[in-house]
Formats: sequence, C-alpha cells, structure tokens
Amino acid sequence: MKKFLKQQVDFKYLDLNGHYKFMQNIYEIEELIKIISKLPGLGPKSAKRIILKLISNRERILKPLAKILNETFNNISRCDVCGSLRNNDKCQNCSILNKKTKRICVVEDIADQWSIESSNIFDGYFHILGGTLDSSPGSKESLLLNSLISRIEKEKIEEVILATSATVEGQTTAYYIRDKLKGLSVEISKLGQGLPVGGEIENLDDGTLHSAFKNRSALKADSD
Ligand SMILES: [Zn+2]
Repeated sequence: MKKFLKQQVDFKYLDLNGHYKFMQNIYEIEELIKIISKLPGLGPKSAKRIILKLISNRERILKPLAKILNETFNNISRCDVCGSLRNNDKCQNCSILNKKTKRICVVEDIADQWSIESSNIFDGYFHILGGTLDSSPGSKESLLLNSLISRIEKEKIEEVILATSATVEGQTTAYYIRDKLKGLSVEISKLGQGLPVGGEIENLDDGTLHSAFKNRSALKADSD
C-alpha cells in the first residue's frame, strides 16, 4: 500500500507552462501540496513527504490532524485588543488583569511573546503587533496601536517596553510607536545591550533576553 501511494505521488510531469502536474490528477493532493509548500521551511518535496505520511497514517495522524485544524480554525483567532491568540471569546492576555507589574511589553510576533514568557524575565502584559510597520499585511491599523493607547490609559500602565527586533524594520517600528505614544504619562523604553544587530527576539537565548531586558533604556521623545 505504502509503495503504491509513493508511486502515485511521484508520477508527475511538466506541463506546457512549466508546472508540475500529477499523472493521476488528484485534486486534494495537488491542493495539499500547494498549501503545505507555503509553510515556513517547506517546499514541494517536503510537502509530498508530509502528505505521504498523512495518507499512510489515516487514523493515527490524518484524522486527528484534520479535527484539530478544524477546531483551531473555528476557535482560535487574534485578539483585537492585545494582538495575541484567544480561544473563542476568551483572551488570557486580556482577562488576567492582576499582574504584579504595570508594564506592557510590545513584540512583533506571538513567537516573541512565547520566548519572553518562557525566559521568566517579564511578568507584565503583552501587546503583539503582528509584524512591523512594513511587513504587517493590514498596514498600520493591524498593529492595534489605538488599542495599546487605550490599554495604557485604562490599566494605568507605567512602562511600555518596546521589544521589537534589532533590524531596520523593527527599530523603525519602535520609533513609530514611541511617537504615537507621545503625550501619554507612561515611560517608554526599548531593549538594550545584549540584543545583537539583526537579532529577532524569538531566536534569542534566555541569557541574551535577560541582558536585553536588564539593560533597556528610556526612549525619549526627541531621541533617535
Ligand atoms: Zn487580548
């Protein structure tokens, strides 16, 4: 069975437009390859291997995967207040309002939040931009900065820590946010020494993250 499936998927040919087509022309498989190839780190070849694995493990992998994907699609979405993930209407980030510190850490991606959380360096709130000024698909609105401003006011936040990447885009975004927060009575700081140039928060080890948080510096309105 496994060998038969492998033959099916390997039977491909180049059409006149230079695209690979499958001899058997199985719609679902072609669509799966297209979608899985778009995932980070995966190309058509890895997509094919994944699909073979799924199909040859229908009950053990394919069925539970299909179920949990469906549930994820229905239940998990981006919170339009803090930008993190929420399950149905409940956002853990927003619903826990008894944090010890009145601080909000602003990060680009949810993966950055996860890294900082697991390093135990920060016990305040998070705001997830969902990208940078340039990369964010929905442009400036999707950064949810109006929501950040109202959270600062409502929760009487004392410090906003800008933990964007040490890339040009990350730093431009940090200065843009600083300007948007001008006039609010909140301290603004950004991560300091220890953050390597070009470094993405998600990829930093705990030691570097600790150092960057410890050495964060105030971001004055007139500095650049
Ligand atoms: Zn939230």
